[in-house]
Amino acid sequence: MSKQYDYLIVGAGLYGSIFAYKAKQAGKKVLIIDKRSQFGGNLYCEKVEGINVHKYGAHIFHTSEKEVWDFVNLFTEFNRYTNSPIANYKGKLYNLPFNMNTFHQLWGIKTPDEAKAIIEKQRVESGITNPKNLEEQAISLVGSDIYEILIKGYTEKQWGRKATELPAFIIKRLPVRFIFDNNYFDDKYQGIPIGGYNGLFENFLNGIELKCNADFFTDRYYFESLADKIVYTGKLDEFYNYKLGRLEYRTLRFENELLDMPNYQGNAVINYTDLKTPYTRIIEHKHFEFGTQAKTVITKEFSLEAKDDSEPYYPVNDKVNEQLMQQYKQMSAKEKNVIFGGRLAEYKYFNMDQIVYNVLKLNL
Ligand code: UDP
Repeated sequence: MSKQYDYLIVGAGLYGSIFAYKAKQAGKKVLIIDKRSQFGGNLYCEKVEGINVHKYGAHIFHTSEKEVWDFVNLFTEFNRYTNSPIANYKGKLYNLPFNMNTFHQLWGIKTPDEAKAIIEKQRVESGITNPKNLEEQAISLVGSDIYEILIKGYTEKQWGRKATELPAFIIKRLPVRFIFDNNYFDDKYQGIPIGGYNGLFENFLNGIELKCNADFFTDRYYFESLADKIVYTGKLDEFYNYKLGRLEYRTLRFENELLDMPNYQGNAVINYTDLKTPYTRIIEHKHFEFGTQAKTVITKEFSLEAKDDSEPYYPVNDKVNEQLMQQYKQMSAKEKNVIFGGRLAEYKYFNMDQIVYNVLKLNL
């Protein structure tokens, strides 16, 4: 006998919500549930004094896939925000990503050739030929000065591990440019939804049955009985009741402050790249939307190891976790009626556009 729904979607974040939209378009009957009291996953914004506060960490949408950009633009209008974070190292400011402005601030040089010569000299001095970890990868990409000032402290705070114990690919996300260009992303398109991310989700989920405050695991058999297929976007190890052990995550702690001033730091994102400052960055939310409110909200972001009950944010892609993940993946690959999708269920450090792309490629 066919069940009440074609799909039960567990988690109303980006993967789940776009899946719900696509399934509905394909004529399927869908129920989406989320254990939080709201939808939107970690993109959820809370309005404070007219400012959209990115409650679960700042998110900037960027992609080079036209198909992805066109798709999200069907649901909301994006502004022209360009991410240009600044690094504060012991009180001195540097532009990010690593570009001619940064090289000038560091070494006083004025030309790309001068910058290349310094980096090359530091690379040769390091003796690294075949980078095996994040530290070696970083030094061979940008030399030892940039590594010490702009990468080492931030990375070790962010991941709670020595840079020599982290995989090289994490740092490959950061562009290095020999032009004066502070645009953090190399992607063709970027922006923030005008009016915040919540509107985007309202439109994905328009006309779809949604239950908030509904935890799949408190009533698993009931929820499983409702639908032919489950789309699971929660933690991969939790789906199997941690049978093989726990996958590790980094979590974030946010300290929000409402300040009685219009402009605290003059930029949406300032990274604190020294090891001593306990937070990794300060976000000033209004600058994502060019806000002109009288007050401002800032968030200090602290990165820590997730405990059993903390919100999981970043999968830890070290060797131990990779191996455990592979074992869980062997189990999940055998599930006929469950689709595992998103950062938690695939245990992968995805950008938002990769998630959109992955759902768009599914054949429903
Ligand atoms: N990173 C760094 N210095 C910085 C910013 C980033 O060394 O000022 C490194 C760090 O290892 C971090 C990685 O680059 O984990 C990716 O950072 P990004 O800000 O792109 O990631 P997000 O946390 O925003 O997903």
